[in-house]
Amino acid sequence: MEELFYECIEEVETTGALNLVKRKQIWKECETDSHEQNVNSRIVRKQLAIECIKKIIKDWNINSMPEIIKNYLTVLIQEIERKVEFKNSFDIFRLECEKEITEKDNFCIGYLEQAVKHLIKIVNADEPLLSQEYNAIDSDEELDFDELDTSYCCCITWKYQMIQGNEFERRNRERTFWIWYIEKAADIQGKKIEYRSKLSNTHKIEEKKKCERKIRTIEEFTKEINGDFEYIGCEKKNKIVTISVLNLYDNPICPVCGQIANRKKDFIGMAEMGKIMNWKVQFKVKERLYFCDNTECDKINFIPKSPCDYKEKKANFVNIKSIQGNEEVINELFNNA
Ligand SMILES: [Zn+2]
Repeated sequence: MEELFYECIEEVETTGALNLVKRKQIWKECETDSHEQNVNSRIVRKQLAIECIKKIIKDWNINSMPEIIKNYLTVLIQEIERKVEFKNSFDIFRLECEKEITEKDNFCIGYLEQAVKHLIKIVNADEPLLSQEYNAIDSDEELDFDELDTSYCCCITWKYQMIQGNEFERRNRERTFWIWYIEKAADIQGKKIEYRSKLSNTHKIEEKKKCERKIRTIEEFTKEINGDFEYIGCEKKNKIVTISVLNLYDNPICPVCGQIANRKKDFIGMAEMGKIMNWKVQFKVKERLYFCDNTECDKINFIPKSPCDYKEKKANFVNIKSIQGNEEVINELFNNA
């Protein structure tokens, strides 16, 4: 059992995350292991999911997440732990989340809500992702949003709720979360593991340096949002700046069957970022839409899934704004564009 925990730590050190395969192993291992100690493994899984939510509550950032949701969530978790009726609190919590998502497009709250919904499934039955229908699924990317598990969703909420972090700090937060998760999983089962980071300090400092640039041109601003974006031009209308870019990220491999797609066409997508002073900023992204040629594959078409997804772009935007002087400079660039 301890061996699995060390394997997991190594994965986090190498990749920065703990993939679903490894998490499934942790959830399953506690089955064989706790069986000997006569501890119900379901209780271990449930406790581990509860601890994830408690971590979010403990580190709650009121600048990015409304306090009222924290209060409802605290009551809900207390009721679950005391094994009393919690339906009412769950409904109120969800209503408040939905309001925040609709009004503010707050994806952190979206992930938190999904984390709690999944926890309720674990509490009522068991970890859904351990059921047979998910046997062949090995990565979080293969799941729909409403199938994502509590630990994964909590990691995203925890990572992005610190609105002023740069890319380096965010990656570090993700890593820290998963190390915490592995230690917690060990702890619940009465195991002690000693974690010592193998990553050197110089490596960390170099990574940090890369992330603190000041903006001088719209091209640079574009690159800071997503390094794969190539600036084409920008348009202004009614205080909205639309920056046209080409997404250089490419991957013709079908995410479902793994076959290389040959047919493609251009696809234009929009991504709203937020405000720079009085300017509303949005990107018009030209990318590739591939068609899977495998007749046995369920996927008809797909856009290559860039590692810099919507969450990352939004977080980069907030971070650029937070660096002193940047907002004024970018505002001027837009005024003169
Ligand atoms: Zn396919």
